[in-house]
Amino acid sequence: MSAKSAANSGQELGAGMASGRVSQWIRPQIHALSAYHVPDPGNLIKLDAMENPYTWPQPLVDEWLETLRHASLNRYPDPQAHVLKARLREVLDIPQGMDILLGNGSDELIQMIAMAVAGPGRTVLSPEPSFSMYRMIAAFTGFEYISVPLNAGDFSLDMPAMLDAIARHQPAVVFLSYPNNPSGNLWNADELCELIAAAPGLVVVDEAYNAFADDTFMPRLADFDNLLVLRTLSKMGLAGLRLGVLAGAKAWLDEFDKIRLPYNIGVLTQTSAEFALRHYDVLEAQAAQIRADREQLLARMRVLNGITAYPSRANFILFRVPAGRAPEIFAAIKADGVLIKSMHGASPLLNDCLRVTVGTPQENEAFLAALAKVI
Ligand SMILES: *Cc1c(COP(=O)(O)O)cnc(C)c1O
Repeated sequence: MSAKSAANSGQELGAGMASGRVSQWIRPQIHALSAYHVPDPGNLIKLDAMENPYTWPQPLVDEWLETLRHASLNRYPDPQAHVLKARLREVLDIPQGMDILLGNGSDELIQMIAMAVAGPGRTVLSPEPSFSMYRMIAAFTGFEYISVPLNAGDFSLDMPAMLDAIARHQPAVVFLSYPNNPSGNLWNADELCELIAAAPGLVVVDEAYNAFADDTFMPRLADFDNLLVLRTLSKMGLAGLRLGVLAGAKAWLDEFDKIRLPYNIGVLTQTSAEFALRHYDVLEAQAAQIRADREQLLARMRVLNGITAYPSRANFILFRVPAGRAPEIFAAIKADGVLIKSMHGASPLLNDCLRVTVGTPQENEAFLAALAKVI
């Protein structure tokens, strides 16, 4: 046997042994999962991930780079991110008496909450379809995940079913995406209050799309001792930074803070986010443009035969295509240079559904042209 083939068979043996041990040791709940899949956009117009399509004006970019010159990469970051937190309190209108906790994206905050309350026999509950990371993180942390289907047709909350599931499963956490990803709608605020009042454990109102929604539960934090409000800078234009913000009572946040890994918000993120928040008006103007373009896009999609486009209070639009045609329509739009997201198969309520992020007016035109052509 040559040295080379011996090395190869050694690799194969190693790989075979590893896969046996993998299934022996990796928890079945994890082994059964598929990793969160992000397709490579290549040169496609990227309307798949709810990103803000706009960059900053050049003078602002120069000013930002100048502030980075003074960042000390040899030192650990401020573990409590004092300066950044103070600015966030102001910009996000955090109510007096409420605390905030920062995460490396709001995903990390969802994970911290889950880790803090996980335990044998405990459940996490969310409507379905909703943000896929609730289910994933519930699996990572050993929870049983309870999903309650939304009403077919308008994706509103099935209140009797939600209240019944809360009473029956006594969930440690209820996640409510407000507006909901992927349906785009805001649920009835009075119904949400009813759920928060009925829930025995925590309720996280996830406001990732707040910049596009015109409503928030932030002022209601003081009304409920089990409410937390989750925000992120990602969808507003800083997806690359990874900064999430959890607002709520200090008694809860102090507990989650114990789980937070030290220095989870790096020097470059703290410096860049502080800078961006000093120029929040730029991000707000971009969000306003996106909201206006969303209404245009929605109106233009609705006149296309065979398309049902759902109302949205976020920066994306969910739409339904004629039965059985979602894969073909998704592929044709991609072949025309535009990457959107297929939701077909993600939930029974999402059959024949695709989701498009609102881009620049030119990007939206390219998408509309591709959709009109294939439909
Ligand atoms: C995108 C999204 C998040 C995650 O945002 P990051 O801060 O980028 O981790 C959280 N919740 C919902 C509903 C989202 O759509």
